[in-house]
Amino acid sequence: MQPNPERFLADLHTLRSFGASGVGRGVVRPAYSDADMAARDWLAARMQAAGLDVSFDPVGSLFGVARGPSLLLGSHSDSQPEGGWLDGALGVIAALEIARASREAGGPPVSVVSFQDEEGRFGVTTGSSVWGGALTLDAADALLDRDGVTFAEARARMGARCGAFVDPAQFTGFIEMHIEQGPTLITSGEKAGVVSAIVGIRDVKITFGGQQNHAGTTPMGLRRDAFQALSAFNARINDRLRPVVTPATVWTIGQVALHPNAASIVPGRVTFSMQWRDGDSDRLRRMEEVIRDTAAEVAAEMGLSLDYGPMLGLEPVAMDGRLRAGLEAAAEAEVPGNWRVMPSGALHDATNVARLMPVAMLFVPSIGGISHDFAEDTDETDLVTGLTLLARAVAALQ
Ligand SMILES: [Zn+2]
Repeated sequence: MQPNPERFLADLHTLRSFGASGVGRGVVRPAYSDADMAARDWLAARMQAAGLDVSFDPVGSLFGVARGPSLLLGSHSDSQPEGGWLDGALGVIAALEIARASREAGGPPVSVVSFQDEEGRFGVTTGSSVWGGALTLDAADALLDRDGVTFAEARARMGARCGAFVDPAQFTGFIEMHIEQGPTLITSGEKAGVVSAIVGIRDVKITFGGQQNHAGTTPMGLRRDAFQALSAFNARINDRLRPVVTPATVWTIGQVALHPNAASIVPGRVTFSMQWRDGDSDRLRRMEEVIRDTAAEVAAEMGLSLDYGPMLGLEPVAMDGRLRAGLEAAAEAEVPGNWRVMPSGALHDATNVARLMPVAMLFVPSIGGISHDFAEDTDETDLVTGLTLLARAVAALQ
């Protein structure tokens, strides 16, 4: 099997044109946006032209299925609200090229997938969560995006495209190629990373409720200021988590809604996201205890109410030994001594697919370690190296 680098790069650039931000190679293609649906229609046509049996499942994940038992390759084609051109797209287009090249060469059947809403406009890797069974369709339908649109409303926009769920039993395994989205490979100069495990994640919304009041007449000592509570919580949590975490553990308050968010009003309510990630389930649980204890302590001290939204999350997932060994052998053949085994700190669709079949992942370097930003990029030579490496692994694994 001989994948075609020019055709691969041309398709990657065409996919980028759907929702191109005009800033660098950036892309604005959130799940179910017009750009996302147009990109999926284009991808469906490309899959069809590659001789694959094309269908959208009920949430809009797009499958191009080869006849007979096959390896499934792919990732996602939705982007962050301000995203790069490779996050997800690389894995989908590499899959398409390998399926095409294998068919042309009379090689093994290869199927392709682009999952919907990996970037979590609604939940966390929503499309593959539903397919993998971590989330029921009913539960997903009730999820809201930040503008109050439900998942049910959003997926209804896909209209008549959507059909039945694709039977996972026909796939012998899933391999997801992805940009690293971190600094490890670009710093070491290595050309590929074979993933050992994907970290787990917890994500919860926390609300402190105080008393909204006049910012000029309310004495400091009488205030029940929701922003002051968030501020105290954030400072304390960094200290309290330190004995529990490792250097690889991360936590983030990334979204804050302050009410009513006006200069002359003591804020009466704040709702914020608290998210943490680690490769060890037990550590994730211990972090949750610290987070809940600290929030309760701050609320009690300042006389505020405390409420939690639903706890979202996924467990850490180890990669399949056989698929991983296939990627390692291909890496050693393509870039001898110039690759590594590494964990994935980012969450991926492979986490959910692991409930259905063996999974593995391959990383290529990210320039500057930057992703989820218009500046995200990878040297095109490195993209092609990843493609040939993956094609070699697929040919050997079948
Ligand atoms: Zn991604």
